[in-house]
Amino acid sequence: MNPFTFTQASDVDAALARLASGARPIAGGTNLLDLIKEGVMRPGELVDINGLGLDKVEEAPGGGLRLGALARNADTAYHPLVRERYPLLSAAILAGASPQLRNMATNGGNLLQRTRCYYFYDVGTPCNKREPGTGCPAKDGLNRLHAILGTSEHCIATHPSDMCVALRALDAVVHVRSQGAEREIPFADFHRLPGERPDLDNTLEPGELVTHITLPDAGRFVAHSAYIKVRERLSYAFALVSVAAALDLEGGKIRAARIALGGVAHKPWRVEEAEESLVGKTPGLETFGAAADIVLRGAHGHGQNDFKLTLARNAIEQALTTAARGTEYAKGEQR
Ligand code: SF4
Repeated sequence: MNPFTFTQASDVDAALARLASGARPIAGGTNLLDLIKEGVMRPGELVDINGLGLDKVEEAPGGGLRLGALARNADTAYHPLVRERYPLLSAAILAGASPQLRNMATNGGNLLQRTRCYYFYDVGTPCNKREPGTGCPAKDGLNRLHAILGTSEHCIATHPSDMCVALRALDAVVHVRSQGAEREIPFADFHRLPGERPDLDNTLEPGELVTHITLPDAGRFVAHSAYIKVRERLSYAFALVSVAAALDLEGGKIRAARIALGGVAHKPWRVEEAEESLVGKTPGLETFGAAADIVLRGAHGHGQNDFKLTLARNAIEQALTTAARGTEYAKGEQR
C-alpha cells in the first residue's frame, strides 16, 4: 500500500485549496478505493469532500433540475422530482451497479469513474491509459467489453457509466469550480475520446471540483423514454451496450428524438443527425433501424467485441420501440 495523507474538508473553499495542492477528492470511494488497492492510482493525499453540502437535488431556474455532485446515486434515482420529470435518468441510474453501490456512489463520482478495461486494472500489463506510451494489449487481446466507436490506435476502452448515458441524452451541463474560478461544461464536452491522450478521461483541469449537474426542462420526453441495458448477467454488470432513448410524439409523428449509447465508446455516444432523421416520421422498426445505421456509422469491432455491431443496432431499435410504447417506470424501492 502506498502511504497517503487523509484530510477532511468542511467547505468548498477548503477542499479547493487541498485540490490545488495536488490532493485527490474522495466521496463514495466506490471506484477510487479499488484503484488505490490495485496500485493503479497512488495519491499522496486524499481529501474527504462528503461534508461540503453538495448533496441536494433541487429545482433549477427555468424548470430544470440541479443535481448536487455529492447526492448519492440512489437518492437521485428515487428522488420524486427525478422520477416525475426525468424517468430516463432514474431508469439509467437504477440499471447501474448494485443497490449497495448506488447507496454509496455519488453523482460526481459516477461522472469520474474510470474504465473497467481488464488491463487498466492489472499493473503487471502495459496500458496506455495507465502508463502512456506502453501500449494497448486490449486491441489484440481481451476486448469483449471494449469500444466500437471513437477509438484510437492508443486505446479502445469504454466509459462504464449508465447514468452518464442518460445525462448525455438529456443535454446535462456539468458545473465545476476551482480556486477563484468556475465554469460550465456541456455534457457532450465533459468526457473525451482517447485520441493521442487516453490517460485523460475528461476535460476537468487539475484543481477543479465538480459541484453540481444541471438538467434543462425535458417535459416533452417524459411520456416516451426508455433505457435498455444489455449485459452479461442481470444482477450486476457493466453494459455491453446500453441505449437511452426518448421521443416527443404528437399526432402519431415524431417531433423530436434523443438517442445516446453506452458501452460502445470512451464517452457516451450520441449522433444528433440520427435524431434529426426521425423528425416528422411515424414510429416504426424500419425508421428506427435507419436511425441506428446513422448512429453506428464508422463502427468497427476488434475481434471479441464484433458482436456489438449487431447488438447495438438491435438495442437502438428496441429502445426506440419501447420508448414509443410509453415510459415504463422503474418498479420497486430496493435500496
Ligand atoms: Fe489500456 Fe485503453 Fe488499451 Fe485498455 S483499451 S489496455 S485502458 S490503453
